[in-house]
This record gives sequence, structure tokens and C-alpha cells, in this order.
Amino acid sequence: MQQSEILTSALFNLKKTAERINLKDCFFERLSSPKEEFKITLNPTLSSGRAIHIKAFISLHNDALGPSKGGIRMTPNVCIDDVVGLSMEMTWKTALIGVPFGGGKSGLCIDPTNITSADKEIILRSFIRGVKRHVGPEVYIPAPDMGTNEEDMGHIRDCISYSNGTSITSGCYVTGKPILLGGIIGRREATGKGVVYTILAACEKLGINLQDCRVAVQGFGNVGSVAAAQLAQLGSRVIAVSDITGGIRNDLGLNIENLIKHLKISGKISDFKDGEPISNSDLLTLDCDVLIPAASQSQITEYNAEKIKAKVVAEGANSPTSPDADSILNKKGVFVIPDILCNAGGVFVSYLEYTQETQREQMTLQEVELRLNNRMKERFIDVYKYSQNHTLSMRDAAMEIAVIKVTEALTARGYLP
Ligand code: GLU
Repeated sequence: MQQSEILTSALFNLKKTAERINLKDCFFERLSSPKEEFKITLNPTLSSGRAIHIKAFISLHNDALGPSKGGIRMTPNVCIDDVVGLSMEMTWKTALIGVPFGGGKSGLCIDPTNITSADKEIILRSFIRGVKRHVGPEVYIPAPDMGTNEEDMGHIRDCISYSNGTSITSGCYVTGKPILLGGIIGRREATGKGVVYTILAACEKLGINLQDCRVAVQGFGNVGSVAAAQLAQLGSRVIAVSDITGGIRNDLGLNIENLIKHLKISGKISDFKDGEPISNSDLLTLDCDVLIPAASQSQITEYNAEKIKAKVVAEGANSPTSPDADSILNKKGVFVIPDILCNAGGVFVSYLEYTQETQREQMTLQEVELRLNNRMKERFIDVYKYSQNHTLSMRDAAMEIAVIKVTEALTARGYLP
């Protein structure tokens, strides 16, 4: 089996950080693998009457700072190593953004675009029934990730309260739910908006005028489409966007609002009439100021990094840049806003949802957006200052801050008898 690029890259970043900060071996060993990992086989019977088998995984990487937090990925090729690598990233992300959670992740090995929503619900309920003992406000709190959404989180919430025989749960078992079921206003847009807040902060530091900024966005899902729309609204020129079906380019700037409307009708970005088609790989190497890889992992590799022309790469996706590519981008002087900072807006607002539900509170959109904006800016500045003071890339600085914090938490907890 091919090695998981996500896990390889997560381990590489940890090892590099450990060497720089002289991390004690005992901590390095402990943080190199998850605290707990589970593999299960689901055997749901679909609405057609057909019984299927699905591999599913959970990795709870670390819980020194609080219960493990992280989304449920539903893709045909997800493997346990991907889930472990992603859960490790969640440990750094939650520590860095400053929420009282550790890192976790789930993976279900199935293509959600090939099944009906009724069957997706059956599969998710089967998953939650199978792993219920590992999910809870004090253990692991899932959320949406690639292939899952708000509606799915609503079904998870129902499955848990239904099995408890109650209408509500005591505390928050899952975030990213529909607002009606205890979800928080603004969660759906939070990751994309958070990406934009870090881009604004980067442009300010680098003296890039937002109005002159040409942006290319790979991935037009929950993260990419929100980021593109926000940046267009702020006056930047979004010159290319793409999704799994292909992309569209217009050097004068795409009308993102119209593109979103078009996508709802046509389902395909590439046949939008106000532009020329562009492939996903050509989009990455376009002449632009800001590149947002917001699709999937391992998109910027040693094969295309040299050709990247953007001044800023804002990692909307998890692990979109391989370690080799990262070092090429650094040598070229490209300013990379690392995933664990750039896309942390989602988990930050998940934290607000968690506190809201625990306290039976109701936050307004204004409160949520203000807190998200402030937190993203503060953490960007912390990482930026650290990178300047220690002559490190933004990724290395972010990793150092996060690993030190988690290690301090482990130390503060003391030794088990
Ligand atoms: N899946 C998202 C991430 O990778 C959100 C996680 C969460 O809100 O728990 O950050």
C-alpha cells in the first residue's frame, strides 16, 4: 500500500520541530503516534435492501489540552494513516488557535457523491452507533470535514440523543450542526472567512494592496467558495477558481456571485460563460498574488512548487503542500500561511458552538464573526512575530508554538502513577 502523504508530511513537520526545539525523546515518541486509534467495519443495509461493508477509522491523537476535536472525512480512499496524520494536525491546530481541545479525526471509506442522501444517513448512523463509546463532549467531538456537512452532523446529533432516549444531549457531542439543532450561526462560513482574515493580515505585513490583489482558488466547496466570495467583496480580483470537475479563468476577475448561482444550476464550474476553462493543475501555477489551495491534500509538490508564481499561499485545505514543496516555496520567498493557522477558523467556531450548547446560550452572528476575526488576527500576529524573532517560516513558527504548548500541557498534567 502506498504511504499516506498526509501522515508522512505530519511526521516530517513534527520531527523537524522536535529537532529544532530539542524536544525530549519521551515527548517525541508520545506525539508521533495517536493516543488511541480505532478501525471498524460498518455493515449497513442501504435503502435498496443491499448490505454493504465500509471501513471506518477514528484517531484520537492527543487530549492534553482537552477532548479530541476534528471532523469526519468521507472519501473513497481515506485510510487509517491519513486519519492519524489529520488528527495530529488537529492537535497542533487547536493548540495554536487556543481552544481547549486536543486533536482527533474520523474517516469513512466511501464516496459520498455516489450515494443518495438517505443512504448517507444510514451509513452515518451505523458509524455513530458503532463508535458511540468513543464520542462525547469529554472524549471526542466530531465535525464536518471533506465529504460531510451540516445535515450529516444533524443526523449524528439525532442518533446520539435518540439512543439516549432524550431530545437533547447533555453537552455538545458534535459541532457543525444545523442551527435549529443547536448549531451556531456562522459555522458554515467560518473556515473560509478565517482563511480570508489571515490573508488580510499577511497582505498588511507584506505591503500588498488588497485592491490590486489577483487571487486563484483551487477548490470551490465550503472553504474555497466562501473565501473567493469574501475576497471579491473586499475588492480583490479573483482570476481563477476550480473544483473537481475543472476550473474557470478570467484575468479581469470573475463575478463570484454569478458563478455561485451558475454552479447551483449547471453543477459545473468550467462551463461558466464569463471565462476560459483552466485545469486544476494549471490554476496552481497561474501568475497571481494569492493562491488558495482549498481542495485536498498534496496539491503543491516537488513537481510544481518551482512554478508557483503567487506571493502568498494560503492553505485552506489540510496538508496541501508536501514537505519538499514547502522547502522550495520557502527558498523562493513565497509567504505560506500554514494550514494549522490558515484554516483554523472552522474549529474555532466549533469551540464557540461547544460552549454555546454547554451553556444553552445563543450567540449572534455579530458576536461569532467578531470573535473569529479577532482570534485569527491575534494568532496570525503571534505566529508572524515568532517567525521574525526566530528566523523561521510561518509553518515552522506555528508548529513550534503548538508543539511547545502541547508539551507544556503534558508536563503540567504530570506523570501517571
Ligand atoms: N474539519 C475541520 C478541520 O479540519 C473542522 C474541525 C472541527 O471543527 O472540529 O479543521
